[in-house]
Amino acid sequence: MKKIIKSKLLILFILAIISIGLIACGSTNNDNSTSIPSTSTTNTTNTSTSYIYVGSSKSDKYHLPSCTWAEKIKSSNLVEFTSKEDADSKGYQPCKVCKP
Ligand SMILES: [Zn+2]
Repeated sequence: MKKIIKSKLLILFILAIISIGLIACGSTNNDNSTSIPSTSTTNTTNTSTSYIYVGSSKSDKYHLPSCTWAEKIKSSNLVEFTSKEDADSKGYQPCKVCKP
């Protein structure tokens, strides 16, 4: 008999946790719903660009456009590559951080 009471209490406890979790998830989903579409649109704009790799005319490394080092390249020094072969043929080496 004691076991049955314990299992009933356990079920009630689990139901309480689930309902609290659903409420918490519902509120966080509402908060995220505004931020998720904005991040996905920025990702699609990044992939739709004509070049795949970027480099700096001041260095011999080429990067993925998403690399933190790529973001530090001044627009005046920015070199764009359409492929790895394109970058290699111009004497550029792959970045060790983003591993393009
Ligand atoms: Zn990089």
